[in-house]
Amino acid sequence: MYDQLTFETREEDLRLRGCWEGVLTKVSSMMAPKMAERFLSRIRPAGLHDGVAVLEVPNSFNGEWIRSRCLSDLQEAISEELGETVLVELRVNAAARRPEITAMAEVKAQPVVVERSTNGFSPSDKYRFDNFVTGQSNRLAFAGAKAIAAEPGKKYNPLFIYGPSGLGKTHLLHSIAREILLRDPSFPVVYISAQQFAEELISSLQQGKIEPFRRAQRNVGIWLVDDIQFIAGKDRTQEELFYMFNHLHQTGKQIVLCSDRPPRELHLMDERLRSRFESGLVADIQWPDTETRSAILLSKAHEEGVPLTTQVALYLAEHVPGNIRNLEGAMTKLAVQSSLNDHEISMDLAREMVELHYSQAALAKPSFTQILDVVSKFYRIPVEEIRGTSRKAPIALARHVAVYLTREVTQGSWKHIGHQFGDRDHTSMMHAYEKISKMAGGDRDFANVVRSLLRNLNPDGQ
Ligand code: ADP
Ligand code: MG
Repeated sequence: MYDQLTFETREEDLRLRGCWEGVLTKVSSMMAPKMAERFLSRIRPAGLHDGVAVLEVPNSFNGEWIRSRCLSDLQEAISEELGETVLVELRVNAAARRPEITAMAEVKAQPVVVERSTNGFSPSDKYRFDNFVTGQSNRLAFAGAKAIAAEPGKKYNPLFIYGPSGLGKTHLLHSIAREILLRDPSFPVVYISAQQFAEELISSLQQGKIEPFRRAQRNVGIWLVDDIQFIAGKDRTQEELFYMFNHLHQTGKQIVLCSDRPPRELHLMDERLRSRFESGLVADIQWPDTETRSAILLSKAHEEGVPLTTQVALYLAEHVPGNIRNLEGAMTKLAVQSSLNDHEISMDLAREMVELHYSQAALAKPSFTQILDVVSKFYRIPVEEIRGTSRKAPIALARHVAVYLTREVTQGSWKHIGHQFGDRDHTSMMHAYEKISKMAGGDRDFANVVRSLLRNLNPDGQ
């Protein structure tokens, strides 16, 4: 019924698939049959990992609709069917798209299929040079990326791209990879986020397999490292990265790095690394102006088959705060709303949506109560116990995770957080936070749990 089973189909995934009919029956009984048919029937239960059920949806409209209407119902139904509490993560899988999915979606040209590179990475076909909109704010980064894709290792080495989150850095990295692989499918492209690099390093150190790790990383023609700021303060990872950097650089291999800040502001980064980062082309991406923002939005609308007028695009570009990711989220919300009402995307609808979701009041961060609630549901420990004083290991763990999330989400002071947790000392809050950061740094499964909890709190977050 779903994809064919392969050797790699895991028992956990089978459990999820096995209970799926039951989940659908439960959740669809809570909504109009038309909506169930339109949205639920297109979900694909992709897998179950460490308490997180991954559900694939065919496009971002479906995802947004499900998130806003029935995510918690789905979570509850799956948990009941499986007999254990799970979190739900929604992922868009364009391949799961069927032609009839959105009445609005135009029939588009088939995306070019890029061969997988030798290390198994295949760049997203959403992120291409031809759909990257350029303006004053990103011209240099774009030009640098194009030059490198044309002749890896020949021009600027390394290319260091920096700029705030959500402004197209990952888009450029994928575009480089894509262009190279289209030309030469066997070219060894490695794309890795600095976080993944650190996690893989730790696990290979634990297993005493540092050499295979080094070999895998070194065997590349182009090394694309995303979100390098992540390794600030992580000395062992920096050491390894330095080693790798030098090896690749000396052998003429191309290196591209992305960061949310310029090299000189990467505090807690080894000076030798910083100066290496600055030794090629350093290109920034700035906040785009309103015209570029609306041009990007119109390009996305075209790709997704959303009928967006220039007037509405300009209005959104002016009124939706935040980065391009937020802007795309706003367009998706608008498209969902218009398809549900069977009404075109008008200025009135856009104004209503902006008022509802992006006015000052609507932008409030998740509250402390919501955070406690999410942790309590996940660990099945009552809120009072999380806020209480018990030192039993599972309760203390849940409490520490709650402290971590509170700090990440609210950015509150340690003192204030201590107060929220029943007048606790601020240093114990800091220790709890550090403890969870360390655990997540050394244990991938645990890191996934924390990430999913964060995402559940902050579905629009980065
Ligand atoms: P970053 O890595 O800088 O955090 P991403 O590359 O993930 O940002 O970009 C966030 C979203 O914004 C992506 O969907 C991306 O396609 C889109 N985006 C950002 N800048 C542009 C641009 N100049 N042209 C087209 N899309 C863009
Ligand atoms: Mg990114």
